[in-house]
Amino acid sequence: ALNKELAQMLKGGVIMDVTTPEQARIAEEAGACAVMALERIPADIRAAGGVSRMSDPAMIQGIQAAVSIPVMAKCRIGHFVEAQVLEAIDIDYIDESEVLSPADTIHHINKRDFHVPFVCGAKDLGEALRRINEGAAMIRTKGEPGTGNVVQAVSHMRLVKKQIAHIKSLRTDELYEAAKTLQVPYELVATVHATGTLPVVNFAAGGIATPADAALMMQLGADGVFVGSGIFKSGNPAQRAAAIVQAVTNYQDAALIAHVSSNLGEAMVGINEAEIELLMAERGQ
Ligand code: PLP
Repeated sequence: ALNKELAQMLKGGVIMDVTTPEQARIAEEAGACAVMALERIPADIRAAGGVSRMSDPAMIQGIQAAVSIPVMAKCRIGHFVEAQVLEAIDIDYIDESEVLSPADTIHHINKRDFHVPFVCGAKDLGEALRRINEGAAMIRTKGEPGTGNVVQAVSHMRLVKKQIAHIKSLRTDELYEAAKTLQVPYELVATVHATGTLPVVNFAAGGIATPADAALMMQLGADGVFVGSGIFKSGNPAQRAAAIVQAVTNYQDAALIAHVSSNLGEAMVGINEAEIELLMAERGQ
């Protein structure tokens, strides 16, 4: 319960990918609620190819020393020793992430073995509840990281919301079958039925590149956003980072979003789905 409450504190915030202490300071200055320390942002992971692993602990510690906001770091799906290493350096949150190469094609980490809160990606309600059952304190859409294309994040967020609405509409005697179909414990489905929400915060991630993208995800019901490649692959990272924070805080205010979107310089170039060779969200299927 404590970890769930920690993750609640990030609500309404923007979590930014950073690769250097300098970028981490820019993110903090711009109003990020946390930073994600990693050696390569997703756009560069795509470009580099090969096996992508947890970052060098010394590199992560350099970022921890540079900022006072929480620092997250990624481990591979199923790689519980990478998670142990991140916990050993007192990381604030671990992202068990499909952006890195999966270490296990079947099992995710038993996140209940750890004190540190975990965030995990999900494309639909079943995945979200399976990760929560394993102990995740926070969920995010998978989106399609490193593309600058918000289309997958939109469909994941819409699908989760639609499936929650469906669960809410069921009779209580129909929840057993719903649990079977979703491949999740009955108790979690009963909680969703009673509350009409996920039991943890659900952020948007994967392809968010502009203030309008970020506000779109908030209007679709996200509790906050992760911005990976969008900021430090753009022409003016400090200004874009601050603009995205403003857009998330004021996501209903179109005039303000127009203002902060003006003269931002070049956005990241981005790639369309049809041009992508590696669909990270499809990993493990
Ligand atoms: N997401 C990724 C990236 C995976 O590798 C896997 C399976 O290994 C899954 C999701 C599916 O996990 P589950 O069916 O438990 O939700």
